Amino acid sequence: MSHFQDNFTAQSAAVRVRFGAGVRKAVAEEVQALGCSRALILSTPQQATTAQEFADLCGPLAVGIYTNATMHTPVAISDEAAAHAVKLGADCVVAVGGGSTTGLGKAIAYRTDLPQIVVPTTYAGSEATPILGQTEHGRKTTLTSAKVQPEVILYDAELVKTLPVAMTVTSALNAMAHAAEGLYAQNRSPISTLMAVEGLQAFKDALPKVMANPGDLTARGETLYGAWLCGTVLGQVGMALHHKLCHTLGGAFDLPHAETHAIILAHAMAYNAVAVPDLLAPISDIFGGAPGMAIYNFAAAMQAPQALRDIGMKESDLDLAADLATQNPYWNPRPIEKVAVRQLLQAAWAGEPPAV
Ligand code: NAD
Repeated sequence: MSHFQDNFTAQSAAVRVRFGAGVRKAVAEEVQALGCSRALILSTPQQATTAQEFADLCGPLAVGIYTNATMHTPVAISDEAAAHAVKLGADCVVAVGGGSTTGLGKAIAYRTDLPQIVVPTTYAGSEATPILGQTEHGRKTTLTSAKVQPEVILYDAELVKTLPVAMTVTSALNAMAHAAEGLYAQNRSPISTLMAVEGLQAFKDALPKVMANPGDLTARGETLYGAWLCGTVLGQVGMALHHKLCHTLGGAFDLPHAETHAIILAHAMAYNAVAVPDLLAPISDIFGGAPGMAIYNFAAAMQAPQALRDIGMKESDLDLAADLATQNPYWNPRPIEKVAVRQLLQAAWAGEPPAV
């Protein structure tokens, strides 16, 4: 089936992407290709050893390592890291890790305009977007700027193979959510739809193989391919109810990012399938069944968490969550109805199948 639309605007960022098991070893070459010679390597404290490997790979092209990347990109840490980059005279950053480390690289780029090389080790997809989420005084805000779009991405399956299986699954569903909401985005194009469909198919095919053998580099590579496609969709089109719900639950109730996406996705698909069954038909084609149940069953088969109550959500907070999620709503293909959203949250809290 063609994804032709009779009216669309498509815009793509200029990003250089290299793919392959072991491609991280080309990092020094990529630093030089950017015209740079003073790279600051970034990671979380947990991935400091990997950051050191990158410093070794860069040799004299590395001026330092900063290993304090933190979930939700706190502004105070970004300010400190940017000051560190300036003090060292860094002329580019190399961010090695998941969305938190990529976020730190973007925050430094936003403050200094330094170019970024990102080496993703999860499937979050942030490396492919011009979006930066930051937290300050307990509030998470996002901004979109060409300054934060990374210039180079190195997808190396050998690095993602250490991602624990539980995180592998939730991170994959996090990526799939970008593609799933991209299917009905108001500003979608045939290209974003093609990427969304291909990204979902890659996860459908490869995630079970990764679950069976987490060290399967071919399957890991295919899931990274899915992450790239899904992240690129996120970078090109607007998101809707699913991302609003996850943003609310993460921001106001401190629920973990990828797990929340993994639980909510089936429910958001069921909610919106009523309004746009044709646009969500690719989900049924790929996973089988109605869109909500198709994702619910796939997530269950992958042993993803299914209940908000299991990741720290209190039932007594569901009313407040429904209030917050329906305030300043993102555009959504089905009107945001508070009663229906409250019902959605109840089912997601209990881990029940979605309404449709
Ligand atoms: P994360 O980056 O916080 O990583 C979680 C933990 O896993 C960290 O301790 C990390 O060091 C570790 N880890 C990562 N990869 C590993 C690997 N291969 N092996 C072993 N350990 C590994 O988690 P995430 O889910 O990738 O990122 C979440 C953050 O990304 C959130 O703040 C979210 O808002 C942001 N995000 C932003 C965008 C965007 O476009 N701006 C898109 C998606 C996610």
